[in-house]
Amino acid sequence: MLQDPQIAKLARLIDKSRRAVVFTGAGISTESGIPDFRSPGGIWTRMAPIDFADFLASEEARRETWRRRFAMEETFRAAAPNRGHRAVAELVRRGTAAVVITQNIDGLHQASGIAAERVIELHGNTTYAACLDCERRYELDAVREAFERDESAPVCDSCGGWIKTATISFGQAMPAAAMRRAETETIAADLFIVAGSSLVVYPAAGFPELAKRYGATLVIVNRETTGLDAIADFVLHRAIGETLGTAVGVD
Ligand code: NAD
Ligand code: ZN
Repeated sequence: MLQDPQIAKLARLIDKSRRAVVFTGAGISTESGIPDFRSPGGIWTRMAPIDFADFLASEEARRETWRRRFAMEETFRAAAPNRGHRAVAELVRRGTAAVVITQNIDGLHQASGIAAERVIELHGNTTYAACLDCERRYELDAVREAFERDESAPVCDSCGGWIKTATISFGQAMPAAAMRRAETETIAADLFIVAGSSLVVYPAAGFPELAKRYGATLVIVNRETTGLDAIADFVLHRAIGETLGTAVGVD
């Protein structure tokens, strides 16, 4: 049935696994129309990221952060889970995968039907905002309406802290609870599947290394070479939707 030997091998590894973890990056969402960072034409070939320290220090950096976020709003809003997300959701539904660890901030794993508690977000979520000081949640539509009145960066109604999308910027502390949980799940995994990450951003890219060290079979599905191809057991330089979709048997 599975003619393609690489996909047949991936399917066998999945069937054999008792406890898999799927680890995703921006590449799983490009087929949903969200550009990644490091592919040719990716976001960073066009603009440098804004560091957390700059966001805190400069009103202009905060404004620019919000302008960029709202410029992306139509893209995020229009994006729906693709075949790759559906394949991952099926692995969770079957109980093959205990959790998904994601570097993505787009919420598409949850939108594909995976319960929020099974999605470990290492870099937060861009579909809503929060106060940096008291963590009060803010919805983006309201933030945008206020921002577009005079382009002043939004502050918290409760405590006066800066409001920022609920994402982790460069230079910002990683979310401690998510990091701990990701570590525990990674150590427990017998199969660790990376889908759509260049594996150059740490500490996130440390998880596939950790999985390997604790005896998991490490599989990487990514169009281009990654920082960890050399230590992987099996590397597929192919499109994620078709590869995972066929291996798992979902459309
Ligand atoms: P990256 O941009 O560094 O790497 C993405 C990788 O995916 C590339 O190596 C590319 O070859 C591969 N890829 C792209 N489309 C593919 C496809 N259809 N099939 C197979 N491979 C494909 O992404 P990263 O490693 O996740 O690091 C970027 C950081 O940027 C993340 O930490 C994340 O927080 C953030 N980010 C998130 C989103 C999102 O939420 N969708 C989008 C852009 C950036
Ligand atoms: Zn606050």
